Amino acid sequence: MKKPVIGITTAGVLNERAGKGARFMTAFVANVKAVEKAGGLPLLIPCDLEPENLREAYEYVDAVLLPGGGDVDPSTYHAERHPKTGTTDLQRDNAEMTIARWAADEDRPLFAICRGQQIVNVALGGTLIQDIPLQFESDLSHNFPESMERDYLSHDVAVEPGSQLEQITGLKTLKVNSMHHQAIETLADPLKITGRATDGMIEATELPGLYFYHTVQWHPEDLTHIEAMQKLYNALVEAARNRMTP
Ligand code: MN
Repeated sequence: MKKPVIGITTAGVLNERAGKGARFMTAFVANVKAVEKAGGLPLLIPCDLEPENLREAYEYVDAVLLPGGGDVDPSTYHAERHPKTGTTDLQRDNAEMTIARWAADEDRPLFAICRGQQIVNVALGGTLIQDIPLQFESDLSHNFPESMERDYLSHDVAVEPGSQLEQITGLKTLKVNSMHHQAIETLADPLKITGRATDGMIEATELPGLYFYHTVQWHPEDLTHIEAMQKLYNALVEAARNRMTP
């Protein structure tokens, strides 16, 4: 039986060791492995494709995964750049926002992680907190130091009762890692919050009425040893399988 193809968008990064200006296409291997473990076939999508090829790549896959990464360019939501906002990549922002809108309009399964959640929120009309430490009061650590393991469980997420997130994970509280510099400020109108940290931070959303359209602010790819986290990938692949054209 043909496996559902899960398109994972990639980041363009400079690799000066390969020569000045050499850009590489990168992705978290952990996302690739989590999709494979769920029975899907991961396929990387470059964000530097020409528009017609981006569309063709999107149509080729059965579902999309928008992974984590750097800060989102504030011009995408018409905000002034905060001094603490890091390096941004407008090409990637635009490609991923386009995919997020296509998937929303066409009810294509989508799973968005960390930066992916922020991209989806902006694509659908929301805004972002550009620098959590300076712009969001909290007693929690949402962006712990890089010296710590990526599977460190930093804070809890209260799952909205009756949400798809609760059905998928089977849990009312999730213990999650937290490696985000930015976050949702104003929620995009169509999205519904499905998970919050104890400080009120929006940690998960879904697009009601769609078959499978989920965002999470943490990094489940580093937590697949926890059953509830692998279940997110299993549900994505299952949704893609059910949406495959025979
Ligand atoms: Mn967090």
